[in-house]
Amino acid sequence: QKEIWAELKDEPTFTSEGEQVELVANIGTPDDVAGVINNGGEGVGLYRTEFLYMGKNELPTEEEQYEAYKSVLEQMEDKPVVVRTLDIGGDKELPYLDLPEELNPFLGFRAIRFCLENEHVFRPQLRALLRASVYGNLKIMFPMIATVEEFRQAKAILLDEKENLTNEGINVSDSIEVGIMVEIPSTAVIAKQFAKEVDFFSIGTNDLIQYTMAADRMNEQVSYLYQPYHPAILNLVNNVIEAAHSEGKWAGMCGEMAGDSIAIPILLGLGLDEFSMSATSILPARTQIKGLSKKELASYKDKLLSMATADEVVAFIKEKTE
Ligand code: PEP
Ligand code: MG
Repeated sequence: QKEIWAELKDEPTFTSEGEQVELVANIGTPDDVAGVINNGGEGVGLYRTEFLYMGKNELPTEEEQYEAYKSVLEQMEDKPVVVRTLDIGGDKELPYLDLPEELNPFLGFRAIRFCLENEHVFRPQLRALLRASVYGNLKIMFPMIATVEEFRQAKAILLDEKENLTNEGINVSDSIEVGIMVEIPSTAVIAKQFAKEVDFFSIGTNDLIQYTMAADRMNEQVSYLYQPYHPAILNLVNNVIEAAHSEGKWAGMCGEMAGDSIAIPILLGLGLDEFSMSATSILPARTQIKGLSKKELASYKDKLLSMATADEVVAFIKEKTE
């Protein structure tokens, strides 16, 4: 098994009929990049920047952030690197920000909501990213987007900082894609409207599942409702992919589901373009995809989307991919 994986390390990812998909990795720090390269990652699909802010007593400086982003981009050479702006709140706390305790932190003041209200935190991160952009293939992604206005506002601040840097005589890449995490049902439902404005989507199933099923991802008593293969989730995922493609954009997934061997054939059939997972899942996934026909899997789409339960979905896909 290990040898088969190793053989595919420096190969692109093809289905049995030669359709290409992208297998990239989720990282939390620049030190994680070595693992991405060693495991044959074709890029970084999610750089969770929270770690720069956690485990310390104050906000990281623009300079500190710039060094981290530059390091990741340089190490990845010209491979795509999707950096997610600060997603704090919910399960990720920052004691030094002194945010008020909330009754429902997962439904509260977090991520882009916090950043749009705290530009003194948001702008230095955007500046650091823009400055680092000349060292590789940077894509910027905003987390927890619930409305088109939030995206417009975040992008306007980004463009404003780009202009500031240009006026200061600092070089910024002209080809930075700007996209969003789709992890709130409202956004998945009107993905078509979003697709006209964003450059890409990355579906965050860890949150999308908890919000769609109304089942706290940290609460074991309701974990039976945390169902990645629930037809409601598949319909939302499908809606996002179709919306992206109708506007000539790409759709990826960076939640845990993207590296799951039962989900992979389903997602391939729905037309997902990019799968972002933990680095160690990449070679097993590449090996699995090599044996799968996207065309065949796509022919099951309507059937899967009209099923009533997750169990039916799993039984069906297992039978078809045995
Ligand atoms: C997600 O919600 O799927 C995701 C990738 O983000 P996080 O797990 O950091 O919330
Ligand atoms: Mg999330």
